[in-house]
Amino acid sequence: MTDSKTWAQPVNPLQSPRFGDVATFNRLPYVPDFKGKSVDVAILGIPYDGGTTYRPGARFAPRAVRDASVLNRNYNPHVGVHVFERLNVVDAGDVAVNPIQIQKTLGAIEKRMTEIHEAGARTVCVGGDHSVLLGELRAVHRKFGQPVLIHFDAHNDTGDEAWGEKYHHGTPIRRAIEEGLVSGDRIFQIGVRGPMTSPSQDDYQRQQGIHVLDIDLFQDTAKRELFFEQIHRVAGKSPCFITFDVDGVDPAFAPGTGTPVVGGLTSREALACVRRLKGLHIVGADVVEISPPFDQSDLTSLLGAALVFEFLSLMAIGT
Ligand code: MN
Ligand code: MN
Repeated sequence: MTDSKTWAQPVNPLQSPRFGDVATFNRLPYVPDFKGKSVDVAILGIPYDGGTTYRPGARFAPRAVRDASVLNRNYNPHVGVHVFERLNVVDAGDVAVNPIQIQKTLGAIEKRMTEIHEAGARTVCVGGDHSVLLGELRAVHRKFGQPVLIHFDAHNDTGDEAWGEKYHHGTPIRRAIEEGLVSGDRIFQIGVRGPMTSPSQDDYQRQQGIHVLDIDLFQDTAKRELFFEQIHRVAGKSPCFITFDVDGVDPAFAPGTGTPVVGGLTSREALACVRRLKGLHIVGADVVEISPPFDQSDLTSLLGAALVFEFLSLMAIGT
């Protein structure tokens, strides 16, 4: 957190209406180079969807979320924080991805995030399909060590090879564990549901000690509360990373996504869950799998923009 007065403020809508100007995340200054500037959090787009296995389109999410985020404001009454009085937040632009080469893209994500970390800032990333998480976690691990990972998703993302490829949006959690970036017993998954390939699909989660609050457990208020208490107990003051696959939310609320699964969280439940993480030391966060070509009335992009604001709020409180 900066000691001096914060300088990075959203454009005042009474001076220039929300529908005008060039869209940046939350109408914040576009600052790709931090030299000579004190930045606390960089919002970073990752326009990559080469890791999708079904419907593509997440490469268009950073632009769509920038547009939707013009409705974001400054003060969060639910957790009681005026974000931009506590943090200098900027739009750092997008990672220069390689749209047809996943390894080069993962490398570019790690490099860009490391630059931002070295400048003393944290990141909130807007993907991109969920394969981008591996690049993010490589950078986070380099800077902060193994984080506690809070993972919203309809899927576990612990799959293995598909069509002979180890890296795609169904495998980032397994690959991150293999690379030692995060430990299974410090991963908390929320919203998992739907049919599996076989009964043994859960074996990996059990072997690794991954904590899973599936949608049935989520609906049990007492069990849900215990799960969140456990997150706080395990995390304490240690670094935490939130990865939010928007398909954790029901496609009735978030239709613009590549691998929808019915029967998920409502938007309000999702926001409440994120607010329940208040007090944790959040060193990074993302929202991924928003696919604007499949969206309706910008619902999914609006949810993505709202989640970005909630992540910033947690960062403003938990530093
Ligand atoms: Mn998913
Ligand atoms: Mn996912």
